[in-house]
Amino acid sequence: MNIRISRARENNLKDVTVEIPRSELTIVTGVSGSGKSSLVFDTLFAEAQREYLASLSTYARRSLPRFRPADVDLIEGLSSCIAVDQQSLSSTPRSTVGTVTEIYAYLRLLYARMGASDELNPGDFSFNTPSGACPVCMGLGEEVVPDVDELVDWDKSLNEGAIQHHRWKVGSRYWNIVNSTGFFDMDKPLRAFTQEKLNLLLYSEPQTCESDSAGYVQTFTFEGVVTRLTKWMSEKTKDSSGKLEFFDLVACRECTGARINARARAVLVNGRSIVDLVTMELWDLLPYIKTIHGPIADAIVPQIARMLDHLVNIGLGYLTLNRSVATLSNGESQKVKLARQLGSALTELIYILDEPTVGLHARDVEHLVTILRQLTAKPNTVIVVEHDESVMRKADYVIDMGPGAGVYGGEVIAQGTPQDIIEAGTVTGQYLSGKLQIAGRSSRRKARSYLEVHHARLHNLKDVSVRIPRNVLTCLTGVSGSGKSSLVEVLLKQHPKIVVVDQSPIGTSPRSNPATYVKVFDTIRDEFAEATGQSKSLFSFNSEGGCPVCNGLGYQSIDMHFLGDVRQKCPECQGRRYSSEALQYEYKGKNIAEVLDMTVVEAQEFFDHAVIEQSLGLLGDVGLGYLRLGQPLDTLSGGEAQRVKLASRLNRKGNVYVLDEPTRGLHSADIACLLNVLDRLVEQQNTVIVIEHNLDVIKNADWIIDLGPEGGKNGGEIIAKGTPETVAQVAQSYTGKYLRNLPG
Ligand code: ADP
Ligand code: ADP
Ligand code: ZN
Ligand code: ZN
Repeated sequence: MNIRISRARENNLKDVTVEIPRSELTIVTGVSGSGKSSLVFDTLFAEAQREYLASLSTYARRSLPRFRPADVDLIEGLSSCIAVDQQSLSSTPRSTVGTVTEIYAYLRLLYARMGASDELNPGDFSFNTPSGACPVCMGLGEEVVPDVDELVDWDKSLNEGAIQHHRWKVGSRYWNIVNSTGFFDMDKPLRAFTQEKLNLLLYSEPQTCESDSAGYVQTFTFEGVVTRLTKWMSEKTKDSSGKLEFFDLVACRECTGARINARARAVLVNGRSIVDLVTMELWDLLPYIKTIHGPIADAIVPQIARMLDHLVNIGLGYLTLNRSVATLSNGESQKVKLARQLGSALTELIYILDEPTVGLHARDVEHLVTILRQLTAKPNTVIVVEHDESVMRKADYVIDMGPGAGVYGGEVIAQGTPQDIIEAGTVTGQYLSGKLQIAGRSSRRKARSYLEVHHARLHNLKDVSVRIPRNVLTCLTGVSGSGKSSLVEVLLKQHPKIVVVDQSPIGTSPRSNPATYVKVFDTIRDEFAEATGQSKSLFSFNSEGGCPVCNGLGYQSIDMHFLGDVRQKCPECQGRRYSSEALQYEYKGKNIAEVLDMTVVEAQEFFDHAVIEQSLGLLGDVGLGYLRLGQPLDTLSGGEAQRVKLASRLNRKGNVYVLDEPTRGLHSADIACLLNVLDRLVEQQNTVIVIEHNLDVIKNADWIIDLGPEGGKNGGEIIAKGTPETVAQVAQSYTGKYLRNLPG
């Protein structure tokens, strides 16, 4: 029996009724905001989860409040559903690629049984047990060291604020202490300090000093800046694991990143330690592990080899087992999860994936389809939200949503085989058939000056120095693991003023919305105040005008224990956020809640006001004319959030922007719009640098920097640079090869 969804109404869905074939590969596509996630995640997956909870014993269920049911009449043919999402696998630095795939557990067993020393057991090889962990880093493999170049500005004097940490701001308490010691020439740039003075300033142990001001003798304690910071840091790391400002993570001096203690490191099998194995790239480890034989090895090695095979096939061969999963990108985390699923023997499941082509070079996309086919063969049902046309062409079934986004979408506009979609002639169909194409650029813009990256050696980068042209659009390309993100990390470090425009949520407050973000809500409230003679704050849900029950949130949060919070519409204001008093005032026949419920396009027409028109126009320009003014920013998809951020920057000049795969979540139709936005930024004398795999974006770049040739230690070099025409001529470049083969 097929999966049958009847009359789904979540978010923008307009009574969607659709069937999804079982044991096949189905792609759900459509422009960004058309309702794909609302159908696949908020309806199908949410209901499958709820059914699962309902199937638990009444005893287990009693402790769990019930999920809000999805807004849908009926779903038939559901079975257990697994979302292979892009959430990080774990937030602790203790989980590694080896531990989450269980390969490390097998390796520990192998070393305990076959190692030259037979006193050790598998626990003695674990970095999560006291008997195995390195005593210096406690099994983390890393330690934190101060980054002095980040902490001080060598060209400034103490009086000019040479110390970058805010606690030592000129005039602050700590700055006063430094000043009062009388040890330092406060007007001399730090570059001119003697080594001795510098050591005193940065590394002095606490010492008691005296100052004499206006006849009062005061005693106080002076301590070097780094010494003090290190103390704060060690107090802080106890509960937080985020990146620490002014500190760098480096390999532990004792175990050099191996995480385990000297006793475990000394145990060898076939002449190699377990550390040698976990630091090999997976594609090298796979053939090596198969060379270990013997009665014990024959029972363990095949398990290890099978999982390694999945990881390599899925395109992660450049990773190592000791890599902390907290440092994996979203796309990489998803691929590790997919490999784990391939290793499981489960059948008759529904797998849901969100854009698994993220982070994949065109070269590796083909492979992905093979992997998804392995899942359907078991058999399982695989449902993928995806825009990549080459994946779509190979699917069994395609569900095309649209026609537009938000209120203009929410319908299934075509479904069937890829050929059926082409015949239906929807926008997706026209891109599939090649009738619609994103045009290339007729001429390339030229740089007048350059941003330089000097001697980048982070991760796999092989002492890369490169000039990135200013005032043009540059694409960083290369297969996964070739070093694109690493190069950007170095670029940002060497040029701290660069602005990253990513897909992370905008703030976390449900109180901000598109109207507040482009600063038009203020003007709208002025209009209301003027027209009604009431105070401006009556029209703010964050102050006077807010509904007294939900305090202007529009919903109430219910704590669902380990399932997180669930939002329920406020019974008083019905989600409108305002008090009944505020809602009785109207402007041109609409109250303030009705205005916030308008789309950007509707509001532009409604107000007919130059300032409002202009600010909202920016949202329209980035393709978000369908958003409602009042939609909380924390409900936007990553792609929508990124475009809202771009909108707020459209009129600024002279900045350098970096975007990491901005086509994520975007349909070809959206990409055409994105390219216009990037062009506009360039025309405003900004510099735009994007990491990108999408060939339509790459062929429109003014300049390409292609890294490779492969991932990991076989990458980290610049293989080609220049215009797309130049790169297309470079034989060793995979990007060049795909550019050569583009139609037209
Ligand atoms: P897609 O996955 O096709 O990009 P979504 O299903 O995420 O689209 O969203 C469809 C529409 O519903 C979009 O306009 C989006 O902004 C809106 N939307 C999504 N989630 C919410 C929510 N929690 N509240 C209000 N609107 C939402
Ligand atoms: P790309 O962005 O091109 O996919 P990355 O810059 O992420 O490539 O990775 C380049 C190499 O550096 C890969 O071998 C990757 O495994 C390694 N790498 C990336 N981030 C880290 C990290 N935080 N720790 C260790 N190695 C890393
Ligand atoms: Zn260590
Ligand atoms: Zn309310």
